[in-house]
Amino acid sequence: MKTSTACALVLACIASTATGNAPVAAQSRPASEAQREAEADRWAADTEAKMTDDERFSLIHGFMALRIPGLGDPKMVWPEDVVPGAGYVRGVARLGVPSLRETDASLGVTNPFGVRQGDTATALPAGLALGASFDPDLARQGGNIVAQEARARGFNVLLGGGINLARDPRNGRNFEYISEDPLLSGVMGGAAIQGTQDAGVISTAKHFALNSNETNRHTWNATIDEGALRESDLLAFQIAIETGKPGSIMCAYNLVNGAKACGNDFLLNQVLKRDWGYKGWVMSDWGAVSSADFAAKGLDQQSGDQLDKQVWFDAPLKAKLADGSFDRARLSDMVRRILRSMKAVGVTDWQQQPKIDMAAHAATALEIARRGIVLLKNDGALPLASTARTIAVIGEKAQVGVLSGGGSSQGLPPRGWAASDPIGGAGQMGAWRVARWFAGAPTDAIAAAAPQAKVVFDPGLYPAAAAAAAAQADVAIVFVNKYEVEGFDSPDLALPRGQDAIVEAVAKANPNTIVVLQTGNPVTMRWRDRVKAIVAAWYPGQEGAQAIADVLTGKVNPSGRLPITFPQGVEQLPYTSIPSFGTPENTPVTVAMREGADVGYRWFARKKLTPMYAFGHGLSYTQFAYSDLAVRSGKTLTATVTVQNTGSRAGADVPQLYLEAIDGAAEPRLLGFKRIELAPGERRTISLTVDPRLLAKYDTAAGNWRIKRGRYAVAIAKSATEPVLSQTVAVAAQRLPR
Ligand code: BGC
Repeated sequence: MKTSTACALVLACIASTATGNAPVAAQSRPASEAQREAEADRWAADTEAKMTDDERFSLIHGFMALRIPGLGDPKMVWPEDVVPGAGYVRGVARLGVPSLRETDASLGVTNPFGVRQGDTATALPAGLALGASFDPDLARQGGNIVAQEARARGFNVLLGGGINLARDPRNGRNFEYISEDPLLSGVMGGAAIQGTQDAGVISTAKHFALNSNETNRHTWNATIDEGALRESDLLAFQIAIETGKPGSIMCAYNLVNGAKACGNDFLLNQVLKRDWGYKGWVMSDWGAVSSADFAAKGLDQQSGDQLDKQVWFDAPLKAKLADGSFDRARLSDMVRRILRSMKAVGVTDWQQQPKIDMAAHAATALEIARRGIVLLKNDGALPLASTARTIAVIGEKAQVGVLSGGGSSQGLPPRGWAASDPIGGAGQMGAWRVARWFAGAPTDAIAAAAPQAKVVFDPGLYPAAAAAAAAQADVAIVFVNKYEVEGFDSPDLALPRGQDAIVEAVAKANPNTIVVLQTGNPVTMRWRDRVKAIVAAWYPGQEGAQAIADVLTGKVNPSGRLPITFPQGVEQLPYTSIPSFGTPENTPVTVAMREGADVGYRWFARKKLTPMYAFGHGLSYTQFAYSDLAVRSGKTLTATVTVQNTGSRAGADVPQLYLEAIDGAAEPRLLGFKRIELAPGERRTISLTVDPRLLAKYDTAAGNWRIKRGRYAVAIAKSATEPVLSQTVAVAAQRLPR
């Protein structure tokens, strides 16, 4: 492995690998996928058979390639081919088995605690921004560029994408995930995985499963019916796995129905490996293993092993092998799964390194931000009038950068962090809780995009000062921020630090007030009726300032759609407060997932609640009309509909197909979607074919999906609550394999 030696000196590695001429795709793969998989199986079996037990054991556990005070042996000498970062698993050089060098994650290659001095990488917008694009091609591209940058540093495993459904809008990691809907998360996540693996880097779908909150994440026991689980989070993973075939799956910290996710026979052995026929390997989350018996429950590899009480998958498992309480065939299976994925994805066959075009990667980051921005409300204030002479930009750090989310996914982009605010807090993740703003100031981007106007800035510290700045301007743009970070949930949906009062004061002083949200979750907005326009920019990534300015000025017509419901308040959620919130870290708590399969908009429909903004909602500067909906029923449903841009600007629409009711009983489910770009006046007919599992319920007793006979009402809609055209069709009874 030439690369690995070069990578011992990380910066040298980046320099030496970034200049080759190889295309992005992994080299020397056999033509057909089936052939490639058969070859991977063969190679894995042959290679494993030649291994000594020590070599086998070396592949089934690895350490976090970071020196963390108080954890692990500080004097441990790292192998030469370690690339400092999230993880390392020693390979078997004599058999051509590369070491696994693992990095976080979906939003860009991270550089935790600056361990690789001076190493920056493209930092993409939040996963929710990607989800809001409803654009699988863009997801594929995003996954691909992150993987290229990983590969150029010698990393062959990317610890993304995050597929968990956003069940609770207070969850501190929703910004890393895609949506609250299994179809959207599955399709987009699957595309991102494909993009990653097309670059010859193994992708890791995580966190399997139900890691829906960060509160007491190691001791949170989520209980749920099997059917409800199969129809929600598991379906998202199932679709993502079928689409992307990730080489690895990371099991979660939490417990599911009483067993830790990484030692959960039902999740790992029964669902993932038996029912879905998953052939790759399951790695643990970092510090999620508490017994050698997890191997028998389906866990194939212990990650970040210095974070656990013991390196369970070494001496303790070896002892079990010796006394016969651990099956040798299972050891071989664990190793073969890892080897198989290495071969199938191509990390065994890296030749040249990709040529990295950072400008092109920045363009992808910009495009995700642009397509992910959601225009929530617009009473005519946007796009900004070219007659505006003075624009007041108000809000924390808007003069320096855009907010990013924190934790293991935190990126460090080429232009760096413009500001860092160590927030801190109790527990293991307190040190990671540092709010960071990516350089690239909204004030500058707005000034450049509106050259006729003077931009004045106020930091939004005091309502009276913000109001004074707003009063002098033709238009006031208030940036409000809410930082989210792995390891912490928010107690509620409110904006912190008195920002509501700032918006209220500004709205009073200036009738043309526009609010830009930089948040990793929905937030409440008590001032919503008093402002002219609201733009959800999520954490918009390294090119965020540009993307926001483009949307505000109308250079880009907004096309994002909400991938998560914006509630009116916590009283509309399954739990009005997060169970066990505020207790000491690692307090055991059992939480019945009250919403079951009815996550997000489905919960709102079941409870007949009106959200603030519905799943799928998003405005444009043009209008779209739908006509000629035709739904055909057969083995599944296929819908065609004509979409026309009836306005005077080019724009993109996301027509959404929903199941509304079966035999008159409400059963809202997203069945399909498509993002299409249309010139003014242009019309196009699109066709959407429904994944039949979305028409079914999981029949736990029979162990399969059951579509019941009935009359299915289907609608083409602008959001989960805005059907435009509907049709009812007869559907025949059908059973589908699990
Ligand atoms: C996170 C994972 C991450 C891992 C390695 C864990 O704390 O839950 O998502 O991949 O650390 O950094």
